[in-house]
Amino acid sequence: MSLLMQRKGPALPLPRLDGKEVLVGPDPSIAKVKGVMFGGRKQFLTDVGGDEVFYSVLAKLSPRSLQYTRTPLASSWCEFESLIELDRAIYDTLHAKYPNVLALIGAASAELGIGRVYKSLDTVELVKYMENIALFNSQYQKFGRVKFEKTASGGKMIFTDYPVYSPIYCASGAGYFLESILRHGGTEPSVVETKCQTLGDSSCTYEMTWK
Ligand SMILES: [Zn+2]
Repeated sequence: MSLLMQRKGPALPLPRLDGKEVLVGPDPSIAKVKGVMFGGRKQFLTDVGGDEVFYSVLAKLSPRSLQYTRTPLASSWCEFESLIELDRAIYDTLHAKYPNVLALIGAASAELGIGRVYKSLDTVELVKYMENIALFNSQYQKFGRVKFEKTASGGKMIFTDYPVYSPIYCASGAGYFLESILRHGGTEPSVVETKCQTLGDSSCTYEMTWK
Protein backbone atom coordinates (compact mmCIF):
# COMPACT_ATOMS: atom_id res chain seq x y z
CA MET A 1 0.00 0.00 0.00
CA SER A 2 1.30 3.46 -0.85
CA LEU A 3 2.64 5.72 1.89
CA LEU A 4 0.18 8.36 0.73
CA MET A 5 -2.70 5.99 1.47
CA GLN A 6 -1.33 5.10 4.93
CA ARG A 7 -0.69 8.69 5.83
CA LYS A 8 -2.57 10.26 8.71
CA GLY A 9 -2.88 13.98 9.15
CA PRO A 10 -4.36 16.77 7.15
CA ALA A 11 -6.43 15.63 4.20
CA LEU A 12 -5.07 16.42 0.78
CA PRO A 13 -6.79 19.16 -1.14
CA LEU A 14 -9.45 17.71 -3.39
CA PRO A 15 -8.61 17.34 -7.07
CA ARG A 16 -9.66 20.09 -9.40
CA LEU A 17 -11.71 18.36 -12.06
CA ASP A 18 -12.75 21.36 -14.10
CA GLY A 19 -10.85 22.30 -17.20
CA LYS A 20 -10.89 21.19 -20.78
CA GLU A 21 -10.25 17.66 -21.90
CA VAL A 22 -8.76 16.45 -25.21
CA LEU A 23 -8.60 12.69 -25.46
CA VAL A 24 -7.43 11.82 -28.97
CA GLY A 25 -5.77 14.90 -30.46
CA PRO A 26 -4.74 15.68 -34.02
CA ASP A 27 -2.42 12.66 -34.26
CA PRO A 28 -4.00 9.62 -32.56
CA SER A 29 -0.80 7.58 -33.02
CA ILE A 30 0.98 9.61 -30.35
CA ALA A 31 -1.94 9.86 -27.92
CA LYS A 32 -0.66 6.76 -26.11
CA VAL A 33 0.59 5.68 -22.71
CA LYS A 34 2.37 2.54 -21.56
CA GLY A 35 0.37 -0.51 -20.51
CA VAL A 36 2.20 -0.57 -17.18
CA MET A 37 -0.10 2.24 -16.07
CA PHE A 38 -3.09 -0.09 -16.41
CA GLY A 39 -1.20 -2.73 -14.45
CA GLY A 40 -0.65 -0.27 -11.62
CA ARG A 41 -4.34 0.55 -11.49
CA LYS A 42 -5.34 -3.12 -11.49
CA GLN A 43 -3.01 -3.69 -8.54
CA PHE A 44 -4.40 -0.64 -6.76
CA LEU A 45 -8.03 -1.73 -7.20
CA THR A 46 -7.31 -5.25 -6.01
CA ASP A 47 -5.40 -3.96 -2.98
CA VAL A 48 -8.10 -1.47 -2.03
CA GLY A 49 -11.25 -3.48 -2.64
CA GLY A 50 -10.39 -6.96 -3.85
CA ASP A 51 -12.04 -8.65 -6.81
CA GLU A 52 -15.41 -7.09 -6.04
CA VAL A 53 -14.22 -3.53 -6.61
CA PHE A 54 -12.01 -4.55 -9.52
CA TYR A 55 -14.93 -6.17 -11.34
CA SER A 56 -17.32 -3.34 -10.57
CA VAL A 57 -14.88 -0.95 -12.27
CA LEU A 58 -14.40 -3.33 -15.22
CA ALA A 59 -18.18 -3.44 -15.68
CA LYS A 60 -18.17 0.30 -16.45
CA LEU A 61 -15.58 0.11 -19.24
CA SER A 62 -15.87 -0.11 -23.00
CA PRO A 63 -14.37 -3.29 -24.54
CA ARG A 64 -10.92 -1.91 -25.40
CA SER A 65 -10.36 -0.29 -22.00
CA LEU A 66 -11.68 -3.39 -20.29
CA GLN A 67 -9.15 -5.54 -22.08
CA TYR A 68 -6.23 -3.23 -21.21
CA THR A 69 -7.26 -3.31 -17.56
CA ARG A 70 -8.15 -6.99 -17.18
CA THR A 71 -4.95 -8.20 -18.87
CA PRO A 72 -2.42 -5.37 -18.74
CA LEU A 73 0.61 -5.70 -21.00
CA ALA A 74 3.30 -3.60 -19.35
CA SER A 75 5.27 -2.72 -22.47
CA SER A 76 2.46 -2.19 -24.96
CA TRP A 77 1.19 1.24 -26.01
CA CYS A 78 -2.43 1.97 -25.11
CA GLU A 79 -4.71 4.86 -25.97
CA PHE A 80 -4.66 7.79 -23.53
CA GLU A 81 -8.43 7.90 -23.93
CA SER A 82 -8.72 4.44 -22.40
CA LEU A 83 -6.60 5.38 -19.40
CA ILE A 84 -8.84 8.37 -18.72
CA GLU A 85 -11.94 6.22 -19.14
CA LEU A 86 -10.52 3.80 -16.57
CA ASP A 87 -9.52 6.53 -14.12
CA ARG A 88 -12.93 8.15 -14.39
CA ALA A 89 -14.58 4.78 -13.68
CA ILE A 90 -12.31 4.35 -10.65
CA TYR A 91 -13.18 7.85 -9.49
CA ASP A 92 -16.92 7.21 -9.86
CA THR A 93 -16.64 3.92 -7.98
CA LEU A 94 -14.43 5.01 -5.11
CA HIS A 95 -14.50 8.76 -4.56
CA ALA A 96 -17.25 8.62 -1.93
CA LYS A 97 -14.96 6.48 0.21
CA TYR A 98 -11.65 7.97 -0.97
CA PRO A 99 -12.17 11.59 -2.08
CA ASN A 100 -8.56 11.68 -3.24
CA VAL A 101 -8.65 8.41 -5.11
CA LEU A 102 -6.99 9.94 -8.19
CA ALA A 103 -3.96 10.97 -6.14
CA LEU A 104 -3.94 7.47 -4.65
CA ILE A 105 -3.84 5.96 -8.15
CA GLY A 106 -0.78 8.06 -8.96
CA ALA A 107 0.79 7.13 -5.64
CA ALA A 108 0.31 3.43 -6.41
CA SER A 109 2.20 3.92 -9.68
CA ALA A 110 5.11 5.56 -7.87
CA GLU A 111 5.05 2.77 -5.30
CA LEU A 112 5.42 0.18 -8.07
CA GLY A 113 8.19 2.11 -9.75
CA ILE A 114 10.28 2.92 -6.68
CA GLY A 115 9.65 -0.08 -4.45
CA ARG A 116 11.93 0.73 -1.55
CA VAL A 117 11.29 3.26 1.22
CA TYR A 118 14.11 5.50 2.40
CA LYS A 119 14.28 5.89 6.18
CA SER A 120 15.37 9.50 6.11
CA LEU A 121 15.33 12.17 3.50
CA ASP A 122 17.77 11.51 0.68
CA THR A 123 17.49 14.67 -1.39
CA VAL A 124 20.20 13.59 -3.82
CA GLU A 125 18.35 10.38 -4.69
CA LEU A 126 15.03 12.18 -4.84
CA VAL A 127 16.34 14.81 -7.23
CA LYS A 128 17.98 12.11 -9.34
CA TYR A 129 14.65 10.27 -9.43
CA MET A 130 12.82 13.41 -10.55
CA GLU A 131 15.43 14.07 -13.22
CA ASN A 132 15.01 10.52 -14.47
CA ILE A 133 11.25 10.99 -14.73
CA ALA A 134 12.00 13.83 -17.10
CA LEU A 135 14.64 11.84 -18.95
CA PHE A 136 12.55 8.71 -19.44
CA ASN A 137 9.19 10.39 -19.97
CA SER A 138 8.99 9.14 -23.55
CA GLN A 139 9.06 5.55 -22.30
CA TYR A 140 5.75 6.13 -20.52
CA GLN A 141 3.89 8.45 -22.83
CA LYS A 142 4.37 9.12 -26.52
CA PHE A 143 3.53 12.82 -26.27
CA GLY A 144 4.78 15.98 -24.68
CA ARG A 145 8.04 17.18 -23.24
CA VAL A 146 9.06 17.44 -19.61
CA LYS A 147 11.75 19.23 -17.72
CA PHE A 148 12.69 19.15 -14.03
CA GLU A 149 14.12 22.19 -12.29
CA LYS A 150 15.61 22.06 -8.82
CA THR A 151 14.49 24.90 -6.55
CA ALA A 152 15.68 26.02 -3.09
CA SER A 153 13.10 23.95 -1.21
CA GLY A 154 12.20 21.28 -3.75
CA GLY A 155 11.63 21.31 -7.46
CA LYS A 156 9.39 22.01 -10.39
CA MET A 157 8.21 19.50 -12.97
CA ILE A 158 7.12 21.19 -16.18
CA PHE A 159 5.15 19.31 -18.84
CA THR A 160 4.56 20.98 -22.20
CA ASP A 161 3.29 20.32 -25.73
CA TYR A 162 0.51 17.93 -24.76
CA PRO A 163 -1.78 17.18 -27.73
CA VAL A 164 -4.05 15.34 -25.25
CA TYR A 165 -4.84 16.18 -21.66
CA SER A 166 -7.39 15.74 -18.93
CA PRO A 167 -7.75 17.08 -15.39
CA ILE A 168 -8.13 13.43 -14.36
CA TYR A 169 -4.59 12.72 -15.58
CA CYS A 170 -3.20 15.82 -13.88
CA ALA A 171 -4.77 14.78 -10.57
CA SER A 172 -3.11 11.37 -10.59
CA GLY A 173 0.19 13.05 -11.47
CA ALA A 174 0.07 15.05 -8.24
CA GLY A 175 -0.27 11.83 -6.24
CA TYR A 176 2.62 10.30 -8.13
CA PHE A 177 4.93 13.11 -7.05
CA LEU A 178 3.68 13.12 -3.45
CA GLU A 179 4.42 9.42 -3.13
CA SER A 180 7.83 9.88 -4.77
CA ILE A 181 8.75 12.47 -2.13
CA LEU A 182 7.42 10.35 0.77
CA ARG A 183 9.26 7.21 -0.37
CA HIS A 184 12.53 9.14 -0.50
CA GLY A 185 12.08 10.08 3.14
CA GLY A 186 10.67 13.55 2.56
CA THR A 187 8.25 14.92 5.13
CA GLU A 188 5.59 17.58 4.78
CA PRO A 189 5.44 17.08 1.02
CA SER A 190 3.53 19.63 -0.96
CA VAL A 191 2.69 19.29 -4.65
CA VAL A 192 0.64 22.00 -6.30
CA GLU A 193 -0.12 22.15 -10.00
CA THR A 194 0.22 25.89 -10.47
CA LYS A 195 -0.28 25.89 -14.24
CA CYS A 196 -2.34 23.46 -16.25
CA GLN A 197 -2.84 22.84 -19.94
CA THR A 198 -6.47 21.92 -19.26
CA LEU A 199 -6.96 25.54 -18.15
CA GLY A 200 -5.30 26.97 -21.25
CA ASP A 201 -1.82 27.43 -19.76
CA SER A 202 1.17 26.49 -21.89
CA SER A 203 2.34 23.90 -19.37
CA CYS A 204 1.29 21.65 -16.54
CA THR A 205 3.70 22.78 -13.85
CA TYR A 206 3.91 20.97 -10.52
CA GLU A 207 5.64 22.96 -7.82
CA MET A 208 6.96 20.64 -5.14
CA THR A 209 8.44 21.26 -1.74
CA TRP A 210 9.61 18.86 0.95
CA LYS A 211 11.55 18.78 4.18
ZN1 LIG B 1 -2.47 19.86 -15.91
